[in-house]
Amino acid sequence: MKANNGRDKTYTKDNVDKRIKEMDENDSKEKDKPEIVNMKEKIETLKKRTEELKEIQKKMDEKSLNEISLTDPESKLMKTRTGMDVCYNAQISVDDKHHLIVEYEVHNDPTDCSSMVPMSEKSREMLETDDLEALADKGYFSAENIKELHDKGIKAFIPEPKHGMPHKKTGVPAPEFHESRFRYNKEDDTYTCPQGNIMHFMSKRRNEKKLFLVYGTGACAQCPVKSRCTTSKNGRRMYRWEHQELLDDHRNKMLLHGSEKMKKRKALVEHPFGTIKRALNSGYTLLRGKRKVSGEFGLIVLAYNMKRVINIRSEENNIKIAGDNRNITLFQFNMA
Ligand code: SF4
Repeated sequence: MKANNGRDKTYTKDNVDKRIKEMDENDSKEKDKPEIVNMKEKIETLKKRTEELKEIQKKMDEKSLNEISLTDPESKLMKTRTGMDVCYNAQISVDDKHHLIVEYEVHNDPTDCSSMVPMSEKSREMLETDDLEALADKGYFSAENIKELHDKGIKAFIPEPKHGMPHKKTGVPAPEFHESRFRYNKEDDTYTCPQGNIMHFMSKRRNEKKLFLVYGTGACAQCPVKSRCTTSKNGRRMYRWEHQELLDDHRNKMLLHGSEKMKKRKALVEHPFGTIKRALNSGYTLLRGKRKVSGEFGLIVLAYNMKRVINIRSEENNIKIAGDNRNITLFQFNMA
C-alpha cells in the first residue's frame, strides 16, 4: 500500500551523499559566475539545502539507516508494479471457496518471505481446518519455509526462484552443469555428475543456521569439461541441505501440480486486489505509522469481506466457512 509519505520525502544513503556532492559542486560553480542575478540569494538557498541534507545524513549515520522517510518514518521504499514507491507491505490470505480475506498483516519489510509461515498458521486457525493448502508466488519461497510448513502439516505450493545462473564473467557453471543436472542417488547417498562420475559424501558444512552435506569426486582433476563446471581447483562440490528431500518432494509436487495451483492462485488474487484497489479505492494509506496503518488496513479488509458476504448471501442462503478442506493464497499489496 502506498504510504502517506511523498517519494521526495524519502532519502536513501546513496541519494543523500550524491545530492550533497552535487550541491557543493553547484555552490562553487555559482560563485564563479558574477553575472548571475540574485547570486547571493541563490548561494544562500544552496547552502540551506546542503545543511538540511547534511542533517538528514547525520540522522541516518547515527541510527545506521540506509533510508529515511520524513513524513512517515515507518514507511519504506518498495518495488511496486509501477516502480519504486514509499509503501507498507500489506499481506492477505484469501480463501478459495468464497474469496474472503481470512488473515491480514501489515509490515514494512519489503520482502514477503517471512510472512509465509505465520500467515498460513493464522489462516488455518481462523478456518478451523487441519487440511490446508497454502499457495503463494516465488517471493515467499525459502527452504526454511518449506520445512516449517511441512512440519506444521500445511501443504505448500510455492514456485522455486531460478538459481545457479552462470557466473557473469566466467560463465561457470555452464547451463548444462547447473545443480539441477546432477542426479542424487538415494540408495547409496551419492550424486552422479553430468559426465557420469560418482560424487561421494566428503564433509559437512554449516552456513548460517543450515547444515549442508558436501559431495565431490576425484575425477574432476582429469575432467575435460572442468572449466565449464567449476572454477575451484579442488573440483566441483555439491552442497546438499540436511533436509533436501523435503525440497526435492516439493519440487516434484510443483512439477506435477504447480501450473494448475499457480493458475488458481492468480485467479484468487484478482478478486480482492481488484475490489480493494478499484471498487474501494484503497490502494494507499491515509494514516501514518505501522500500528495505525495496520488498523486502517483492517477496516479495508472488513469492508471488502462485508461486501463479499453480501454478494454471497444473495447467491446462497447459507455459507459455511469453517470445517472444510481449504486452500488459501498469500499475496502482497505494494500499490502505487
Ligand atoms: S568437473 Fe567434476 S563434477 Fe564437473 S563434470 Fe567434470 S567430473 Fe563431473
